[in-house]
Amino acid sequence: MGGGGLFEVKIDEKRPTLVIDTPPPYPSGRPHIGGIAHYAQIDMIARFFRMRGYNVIFPFYADRNGLPVEVQVEKTYGINMYEVPRERFLELCRKFLDEYEGEFVSIFRRWGGSFSYWRNGTDSEEYRRVTQETFINLWNKGLIYETSRPTLWCPRCRTALAEAEVEYREEDSYLNYIKFRVKETGEDIIIATTRPELLPATVAVAFNPGDSRYKRLELARHCSSVKPGSPYCVTSIG
Ligand SMILES: [Zn+2]
Repeated sequence: MGGGGLFEVKIDEKRPTLVIDTPPPYPSGRPHIGGIAHYAQIDMIARFFRMRGYNVIFPFYADRNGLPVEVQVEKTYGINMYEVPRERFLELCRKFLDEYEGEFVSIFRRWGGSFSYWRNGTDSEEYRRVTQETFINLWNKGLIYETSRPTLWCPRCRTALAEAEVEYREEDSYLNYIKFRVKETGEDIIIATTRPELLPATVAVAFNPGDSRYKRLELARHCSSVKPGSPYCVTSIG
């Protein structure tokens, strides 16, 4: 960890060590009072343990990973990352992050945060090596696997999104009544949904077997041949 400064970590082997896993801020806007309040709480803990005689490792830097910076760079320069050469785009991201990180660190020093600046934190060669090595170790232990799971996908960014990156918006839409044919009995049942776009992924309809209105569907329970695209069938919940 570099960067110097008053709170640079000096490890005294005879003392216990406290490492703070700081959440680095994303480059999605200028620092605001809410963010400062959050880091002030972390700062209090760092200072408390320092006074108790601990070696305190309290790094601070910007989150230099992935999507948020890419989106900011696209907005700032009015470009699309798929239309500019990769090297040029990475260079713009680096430039943007350096400016952004500089501003953050300066503001966080001015309010008196007792961190040490971890220059190029998660973007350094050293850190990349550690993460890659960790991944390889996990792979060798058989702890990494590949599988299919439902995920949030952004068609604009062409990548999967973390739940934390998704913002919800209230929207008026339609409640659609859709007729499904029960495979076993040929009977039609109607379900209501605000998400008709999920229809192609529907392979079964759940019903409450304790509800007298659906009692007759008991006949069609536990269908075995459920395949996407096959005639819809009905199954029970639980
Ligand atoms: Zn997106």
